[in-house]
Amino acid sequence: MIHIPVLHQVPPPPNRAGELRSSGDIHIGKLLNALINFALVAGAIYFAIVLPTQYMLKRFSPPTPPAPPRPSLPECLSDIPLAARRCAHCAQPVA
Ligand SMILES: [Zn+2]
Repeated sequence: MIHIPVLHQVPPPPNRAGELRSSGDIHIGKLLNALINFALVAGAIYFAIVLPTQYMLKRFSPPTPPAPPRPSLPECLSDIPLAARRCAHCAQPVA
């Protein structure tokens, strides 16, 4: 057990005073138990929910078409948007 004297001055919350009658001690066993429980539950949720969901989404979602190539002007070699009619850099009209 680790003794922290500062925690003696902090009163427990009034509604949970009965179960949290703290003496300022940290119980390493309870802390390790909570950490192991957290890791086990997190692993179970990840392998039981997250991985199958990702697999199903990847399997049943249609493949996205590749983006069309962006046009570039031969004068300034700048990429321009598809809907543009004139270059923003050199003001050349785009065919
Ligand atoms: Zn240009």
